[in-house]
This record gives sequence, structure tokens and C-alpha cells, in this order.
Amino acid sequence: MTEPKQSRPKGTQDFTPPDSERRRHVEGVFRHLAECYGYQEIITPTFEHTTVFVKSSGEGSDVVTKEMYSFKDRGDRDLTLRPEGTPGVVRAVIENRLRIPCRLYYVGPFFRYGRPQKGRFREFGQLGLEALGEASPLVDAEIIYFGAGFFEDLGIRDCLVQVNSIGCRACRPAYRNTLRDFLLDRSGQLCADCQVRIERNPLRVFDCKVEACRVAVKDAPTPRQYLCTDCEQHHEQVLSALNRRGLRYEANDRLVRGLDYYNRTTFEYISASLGAQDSLGGGGRYDYLVEELGGPDTPGVGVAIGLERTLLAAPAEPAPARRHSAFVVWLTEAERDAAQELADRLRADGIAAQVDYGARKVKGQFKSADAAQAACCIIIGPDELAKGVYSLKDLATGEQREVASDAINEAVRALFRD
Ligand code: AMP
Repeated sequence: MTEPKQSRPKGTQDFTPPDSERRRHVEGVFRHLAECYGYQEIITPTFEHTTVFVKSSGEGSDVVTKEMYSFKDRGDRDLTLRPEGTPGVVRAVIENRLRIPCRLYYVGPFFRYGRPQKGRFREFGQLGLEALGEASPLVDAEIIYFGAGFFEDLGIRDCLVQVNSIGCRACRPAYRNTLRDFLLDRSGQLCADCQVRIERNPLRVFDCKVEACRVAVKDAPTPRQYLCTDCEQHHEQVLSALNRRGLRYEANDRLVRGLDYYNRTTFEYISASLGAQDSLGGGGRYDYLVEELGGPDTPGVGVAIGLERTLLAAPAEPAPARRHSAFVVWLTEAERDAAQELADRLRADGIAAQVDYGARKVKGQFKSADAAQAACCIIIGPDELAKGVYSLKDLATGEQREVASDAINEAVRALFRD
């Protein structure tokens, strides 16, 4: 009896070649740029104690109330697959007593139990930066500029960054109360979730996608109108640092972002080509989070970029016709060991090399070389062995020539450079 076919869980993806290579390329561009800005990689667990996320993202946030993969392990501990990066990074910085200021980046998988659709998965990749210990608005602007540069490096042309400020502990309470009163007057028009949000976290009503709620908050007071002098100055400095760089941005005074820990600057990168899930990434300042997770009073600012949406928005690059890889072809069984030895020697020198050990005929080996998109074949037959040479065939041009055996590595490298 045949077993039923296995399929991947809903909302997950397989990255098979060449998509896996496109993904790795995007990660590579991110890592390189992050390191150019002085960030070092941090790797934290994919699951944390549930409290890390509840304390950070906020008990009433959608991520915490609806989207977390939470479970008890066999030791009765409450654990959660990480739905976002910042809380785990902050926890790790405190726990490992990293010297502050520190600039950290991460790349990895995240998990949210949402309704899967284009650009929205249950397991997805995020690329993020966290700058801890830097209060200057110039850092907010630098991070915003970093993200714009990253998308530009990948050829994403239609990305627009929206920027806002949502105030601080000093000015937000007054704004919150005003907004709460405004919403209470219209509570009949709001969805059930937003009715709860009025008391718990009224700012979050701005994030609601329900049309009636959008209409109800159209004329609502916005955080910017209530900023204290310090917040106003901070925001102006962020914007003028963006202006100095000539970065195109849009002020969106309703951009509050769905997580509780942000203060002052919030921003989001939007791409029109993505459809309903149009946010490529976003971030903001979080000056209270380190303290709330048990660390010293430390300002912070960061960004998280969605890997799948970046891949969706980036133009598909033409696949390279040939790889930097050599295929070693043996003509008769007598040369097969020599083929394997040559492949080992090439690899030891950092040159990618393959051998088709199971082939019966030479033609089959050339077919395998083509399927592997190798740049060249190195042919070893009885004549070559006798003369101490290899025949090097350029698979792009079809040209073939003999190369002395001790000059083969350099000849292959030269061919890759062409
Ligand atoms: P957030 O902090 O929730 O705004 O997430 C930052 C970025 O991660 C978003 O702008 C998306 O690009 C990406 N992202 C968030 N949730 C998902 C998801 N469920 N599937 C794919 N990408 C996501």
C-alpha cells in the first residue's frame, strides 16, 4: 500500500533552486549593507518564553492575542515560536550583558498564525537591525535610509517610506485620552475588536483594516498634533536628516504600527506592486523596551524587513547561463579515479567541481554537465593521461583545448572570469 502524499503545512513554503539562491542573494545584500553600517550579527533562539513577547509587543496586540504559535513543552513551560525579532534580541542583549551602545542585525525565520495569502505566510523570513543605546534622531534617519538603500540595491523602484511620530511617555497620555473620548463617541460604528481597543490601546484603531473603522477614524485627532516640544524637535531632526539625503518619504500621521513598544519615530516601507499586503518592512524607536524587559534604561531603534515580500517586489534577475563550476568527464573506467582525484584537488582550491560517477557513456556525462549549468568540462581520456594534460572545453563557446595538468586550476579560473 502506498502512503498518502505528504504536503507542507499551510502557510509555509519550500525554497527550491533557483528560488533558494535568490533568497540567499537577498540575505547576502542585507548582511553586506548591515555590516557597512557597523552592525554585527546576533543569532537568538527561534522560540522564547512567551512572556518575552507578551511584555514587549503588548498584551492587546494582534500579534500576541491572535497570531502566536504558543505551546507548553514537556516540562510545562510556556513557550512561543518568535513572531518578531526585537524582543528576543533585547532579551539576549540584557541576558548576555552586551556593552551598550551596540548595533546588531539578524536574519531568520519568524512565525505568525495569520490567514495565508499573497505575501503573508505562517513562517516567513525577516531581516532586521537593532541599534541599542543611541538616542539621536540621526540614528532613526540612518536606519530609514538604510532600508531605502537596501531596496534600491535590489532594484526595487516603487518603494515609498512613510514616516510618523507617536510621541513619548510625556505627551502620549493626553493624546490617548483625547483619542479615547473621540472613539467612545463613535463606538457604535467600530468593529468588535476596536471596541476593546478603545480602552486597551486606542492608537491601534488606526491599524484596523475594517472599512467602517477606517471611516470612523478619518477625522480623529492624530499623535502629531499632541507631540511635546522634545518629540517635535526629535521628529523634525529625523525629517531634516532625510531631506539632506534627498530621500523621498511621505508623512503619514496615522502610522502607529501594531506593536506596543514603539515611541516617537515609526516608519514603514510600502510597495504598490504587492497588493493588499503592501508593507515591505517597518520599524521605529523603542526607548522603553530594554527597561521593560528588565534591563537598564536604554534607548533603541530598529527595522524589520520581510524577506518574502522583498523577493516578490524585486525584479527577477535573468538566471546566469552558466555557473562557476567545472564538470570532470572521464572517457573510460580507467580514468574515473583520476577524475575523482582532480575534482578533489579543484575543490580543495575553492573551485566548484562535479563528477558523474554512475555514467555509462561520455554523452551522458556531457548531458549532466549541461543540466548542472557547468561553465566547462575537463575531459580525461587515455591520451590525456598519457600526455599529462587535460582537455578543457568551454561549454558556452564550445571551444576545446589542451591544458597542462599543473596549469588546470588557473585555466579554469580564467575561464570563469571571461
Ligand atoms: P511587522 O513588524 O509586523 O510590520 O513586520 C515587518 C515586516 O515583516 C512586514 O513589513 C512584512 O514585510 C513582514 N511580515 C510580517 N508578517 C508577515 C507574514 N505573516 N508573512 C510574510 N511577511 C510578513
